[in-house]
Formats: sequence, structure tokens, C-alpha cells
Amino acid sequence: MKPKISVVIPVYNEENALDICYKTVSDVLKSTDYSYEIVFIDDGSRDKSANMLRDFSMEDKCVKTILLSRNFGKEAALSAGIDFSEGEAVIILDADLQDPPELIPDMIKVWQEKNVDVVLMKRKSRSGESYTKKMTANIFYKVINYISYFHIPEQVGDFRLMSRKVVNALKKLPERNRYMKGLFAWIGMDSYVMEYDRDPRVSGEAKMNYMKLINLAIEGITSFSITPLRFAVVFGIFTAIFGFGFGLWIVFKTLIIGESVRGYTSTISIITFLGGIQLLTIGIVGEYIGKIYIESKQRPNYLIKELIAKGKNDESNFQ
Ligand code: UDP
Ligand code: MG
Repeated sequence: MKPKISVVIPVYNEENALDICYKTVSDVLKSTDYSYEIVFIDDGSRDKSANMLRDFSMEDKCVKTILLSRNFGKEAALSAGIDFSEGEAVIILDADLQDPPELIPDMIKVWQEKNVDVVLMKRKSRSGESYTKKMTANIFYKVINYISYFHIPEQVGDFRLMSRKVVNALKKLPERNRYMKGLFAWIGMDSYVMEYDRDPRVSGEAKMNYMKLINLAIEGITSFSITPLRFAVVFGIFTAIFGFGFGLWIVFKTLIIGESVRGYTSTISIITFLGGIQLLTIGIVGEYIGKIYIESKQRPNYLIKELIAKGKNDESNFQ
């Protein structure tokens, strides 16, 4: 028998995209001769998304819906979907169809024929996205790869296929700070990179606004590297050496040349500069303390309000 494929789709206020998303994805999956399930996670949408998903799962036994109790963010929604998926291969897809579902058969083919555990989808182009978004994304990948201890592939989003082996490994990672792309990269295993053109959204606006993306970037960097902490140490050493030299110079100058009260500008500029650096480094340390705080509470990554499958909503249908 052919293995089962799970497609995991996080949804947040996507009422305009859902009909076409559900239809396209199920048509593509039906065209393959694999058995499949579509796992939708409603990440606390405030529009009609949840009701639409409920209808899909009532009518179609291949659709499971997980309603989260509020908006937990895309990373948590993905964790929920991955936890409840049963397939031998799990494919992650955005609800806005920016990751073309038409590529799913190719991904499955590569997975089977090349015998790899991960099929990564690399964006050749990102149409419909602003210049600043592309540029900031590029800078982010440069920075994170410069300072993290293993390579996080560039231009590779969450869109990918993972084998059950990888999914099980992922489920074992206990952390609360979940930067998925980093976790995926941390797991490793054999991967194959496929290139594709990223389409513009089918409808509506991006739900990952700049604030969410900035948070995710800080999350990503501080979850996978302690290099920023080291920055404080290195900078401190250099400032101390400079300060010592500067002190010697002042003593020398006062003794030999003499000095009336001057130097207001240099004093103020040094004070403000060091003040800035101190605030920055305290902030960096704070980021990591915050992480320890959140991990130490051991709260779940998401809470489920309702599970809907095969027209009934109890958890037994999910395993
Ligand atoms: N999403 C989510 N929770 C959020 C924000 C987004 O589940 O808090 C989902 C969204 O519905 C979509 C996917 O994550 O399916 C990607 O979102 P978006 O298109 O806004 O991100 P981008 O394409 O800019 O990365
Ligand atoms: Mg999108």
C-alpha cells in the first residue's frame, strides 16, 4: 500500500483564501494515488475561517481541523499540525497558496525516488513581496547564518516535505521558543533542495506583519546562538583597553602640557556612547533571561479548543 501523505496548513484570518486553498490542495492530492489527509490549524482567527474549516471536515473525511484557543502564532500552529498529523510524509503549506500546491506530486516523487528525509523548497523568486521585505529577509539570513552553529538554508521557508523520521525527531524537541526553520535545520538528516517560484498571495494581506517578523527574527537568532552575548564581552574588552590608553594619555598630557577645564564634548560623547552600548548589552542579556523564564514555566506551545474530524469532534478520531 502506498504511504499516507499529510498536508499541514496553518490558518489565520484567511476566509477569502480558504475555499480555493481547500479545493486546489485536495484536487492535487486526489490526482496522486496516495492516501492523504489535510490538517488545518485555525490559529485563533477572528473571521469566518474556523466555521469554514469546520464545514470542510464535516463533509470530507480527509480533512482534520484543529481549532486553537487563541492566536498563538504560525510557529505554534505548525507544531499543533505536526503533532496531529499521521502521514508517512508531512508537507507544510501556507493557506494563501504562496507555496504552490501543484508542486506536491513532484515533492512526493523526489522523496520516494531519492530516498531523502526532507525535501526543501527553495524560492527562486518572491513575486508580490515588497523590496524591503526581500531585503530585510536577506539581511536576516546573512546575520543568523553568520552567528549560528549550523547552517539555516537561505530562501527556504516552512514549505517542505518531511518524512515520519524527521517529524518524530521534531516532536521530541521540548523547547517553548519555537523557531521552526531553526529546529528543522538543527535536526539535519538527508535533504534534497527543489527550486520554485513563489507566487503572490491569492487574496488579502500578509498576516505576518512586520512586528511579528521582527519578533520571529529575534527569536530565531537568540534561540540558536549565544554569539550576541559574547558580543558584550568582546566589546567590553576593547572599550576597557581603549579607556586605559585614554586614561594614560590624559595623565601624561596633564603632567607635561597642563590642562585647563575643557573637554566637555568628548566627555559627553563618551558617556552617551557607552550608555548606549550598556543598554544594548543589558537588553541582549535580558533576551536570554526572558528565554530561560519562558522555558522554565513549561507551558504548552498551544492550547486546543476543538478537534474536528469525520463529522465528529473528539480526539479519538485524530490518532
Ligand atoms: N499564520 C498563522 N498565524 C499567524 C500568522 C499567520 O497561522 O499568527 C498563517 C497564515 O494564515 C498563512 C501562513 O501562516 O497560512 C503564512 O502567513 P503570511 O502569508 O502572512 O506570511 P508570509 O507569506 O508573509 O510569510
Ligand atoms: Mg503569505
